[in-house]
Amino acid sequence: MHELGIAESALKAAIVEMEKQKAIRILSLTLRIGELAAVDPQAMEFAFKTVTLGTPAEGATLEIDHVAPIAWCRDCSESFSTDSIAFFKCPRCGNYSGELKQGREIELARLELDS
Ligand SMILES: [Zn+2]
Repeated sequence: MHELGIAESALKAAIVEMEKQKAIRILSLTLRIGELAAVDPQAMEFAFKTVTLGTPAEGATLEIDHVAPIAWCRDCSESFSTDSIAFFKCPRCGNYSGELKQGREIELARLELDS
């Protein structure tokens, strides 16, 4: 379950930020997760609850911003949405492009801290 690893990294990043801002508690944490990142929201929620136990983020709310996949065509520079995980056909010129602009990211988007 890679959600556990993601939750751990997110928590680590959040705690670094919390200490930087001299806060004492993390109230909520928002992750930006691409729809192609293969993250299961329910597993993520569970993993987050598990890794935050006994930390300043215990009881914090986990929010997930889902990021729709957008591919990019190298030939004509068109950006387009896709629901495929590997082959992106450009709607403008019909070429296949393997470039994904967004949709696979896993990022810490926002933190709400309590000082
Ligand atoms: Zn194109």
